[in-house]
Amino acid sequence: MNFDPAEIADLDARDPLRAFRDEFQLRHGLIYVDGNSLGAAPKATAAQLAAAVSQQWGEGLITSWLGANWSTAPQRIGDKIARIIGAASGEVIAADSTSVNIFKALTAALSLRPDRHIILSESTNFPTDVYMMQGISAFSGGRIQSVAVEPEAVLERLDEDVAVLLLTQVHYKSGLVRDMAEVTRRAHEKGVLVIWDLSHSAGAIEVDLNGAKADFAVGCGYKYLNGGPGAPAFLFVAERHHSARPVLSGWFGHASPFTFEEDYRPAEGITRFLCGTPPVLGLVALEAGVDLLCRADMRELRKKSLRLSQLFIEQMEERCGEFGFTLVSPLEPDLRGSQISYAHPNSYEIVQALKAFEVIGDFRAPDVLRFGLTPLYLRYADIVEAVERIREVCVTRAWDKPEYRERAAVT
Ligand SMILES: *Cc1c(COP(=O)(O)O)cnc(C)c1O
Repeated sequence: MNFDPAEIADLDARDPLRAFRDEFQLRHGLIYVDGNSLGAAPKATAAQLAAAVSQQWGEGLITSWLGANWSTAPQRIGDKIARIIGAASGEVIAADSTSVNIFKALTAALSLRPDRHIILSESTNFPTDVYMMQGISAFSGGRIQSVAVEPEAVLERLDEDVAVLLLTQVHYKSGLVRDMAEVTRRAHEKGVLVIWDLSHSAGAIEVDLNGAKADFAVGCGYKYLNGGPGAPAFLFVAERHHSARPVLSGWFGHASPFTFEEDYRPAEGITRFLCGTPPVLGLVALEAGVDLLCRADMRELRKKSLRLSQLFIEQMEERCGEFGFTLVSPLEPDLRGSQISYAHPNSYEIVQALKAFEVIGDFRAPDVLRFGLTPLYLRYADIVEAVERIREVCVTRAWDKPEYRERAAVT
């Protein structure tokens, strides 16, 4: 072993984020390395949801739209998320799913570039991102073209026909981080607008949307923001683009929803990018997760995340080097998000077997094991122990069972 247990204990004792772990509901002995798929539950969430149901809804009934500030929750939570992603107050709303927000951002961007006909992305992007592009293309009857090129070819493909570039900042499989400022600058040189998908960035790494002059961004509420299963997502629209006319022009984005006018008149600012009635209970849970994160120093979070991933890589090399894992994530810290991925021919079975050893990671087709390293609730000692359990699964071939080969509907 190349680590000194006392040193690991010391790292945990001196960790400025160590108090956060206690704020999550995590059963003893479990090592949860899947916070990049579904964040753990903050302890505060259950009580806040219970109060929202029994008091705000149960007692307050419809008066809670104003009395409990339900009606302004998308903007209020959006402002909190803005602080985590380098946006200004009034540039972010919490609403809908990431997929729907991608549609809203793509169509808003297209409306700002009416003479251009290409939506560009990379072929290995998260599928829903590219599916949304393909849907818009089909709906346009082919006028809008959806183009997804190899990751390395994206910058060369930028030209005066491209209206908008949609990229994910931290790749969902490899964890590779794109240089947001540089890519945005290169796109703007050609007049191309950029949408950043922050699903694996928000709450995981430092993000500076306005520093990078980003045009639009979307991201997930249920991953590093710990907003709960299917939590509302968020949408960022840079203030200079607030005049774009929303295609999903629902009544909650209207300038005056409760005068029930016949024609759509968009609200000022980010509010016009709301569509229908906000999912209040989902927003209550999301806010509990976001509030926790707002108390954390993002610089410390990033520092710890990189230390956790460095330790994970070193331990895997040392303790599991002979078992055929190939590191998929970048070795260079600056290029690494908050996850470590390995390719392995039996990755699916290993992920299944690890659950019996109380290590929850996940599998991404065709052969990737993913370990999300969430600095708010993982300890350095957890990393060492997780690798020991991976070693145990490999040494004993605990993964080599027929029941672990059956692919489940959710991986
Ligand atoms: C998780 C994730 C999504 C999820 O989209 P939903 O609409 O919430 O299902 C989208 N894009 C990326 C890059 C993701 O990682």
